[in-house]
Amino acid sequence: MKGRKVSGIARGTLDFILEASRSSMPHEFAGLLQADKGVITEVLILPGTESSRMSALVRLYMLPNVHLVGSVHSHPSSHLRPSREDLIFFTRTGDYHIIAGPPFDRTSWVCYDAMGARRDLPVLDVKFKDDGFDDLEFDDVDFDDKEAGP
Ligand code: ZN
Repeated sequence: MKGRKVSGIARGTLDFILEASRSSMPHEFAGLLQADKGVITEVLILPGTESSRMSALVRLYMLPNVHLVGSVHSHPSSHLRPSREDLIFFTRTGDYHIIAGPPFDRTSWVCYDAMGARRDLPVLDVKFKDDGFDDLEFDDVDFDDKEAGP
């Protein structure tokens, strides 16, 4: 993942993240970010608890063609500082990590780097085909937290 330059996030993708975070309340929304030509345009949805994220991640890396640039999750409590678990997760999933909190508007989110320091993530107006979401892939990966028995 090193060396992948990200110039920003598509406005429609950020709106999707904020909307998904809002509708997940009071639970957390979590996903992984993928970029197309340096612009974050895709969200891969993960199970929404901090503890389930790591096991989901391990399985995700076994999928082909998954190039992660970062992650996103919401904090229903509205404080946007990364937790200890978040920081561990950040170091494994790229360099751009969004945490969103209530009221989930365009100013209620922060982007961190892999070390947990705030960083700028420009919001870009990107043209999508047709209704604006054809290029977006919201893969609903069905992760199971329990060990699958033989
Ligand atoms: Zn968190």
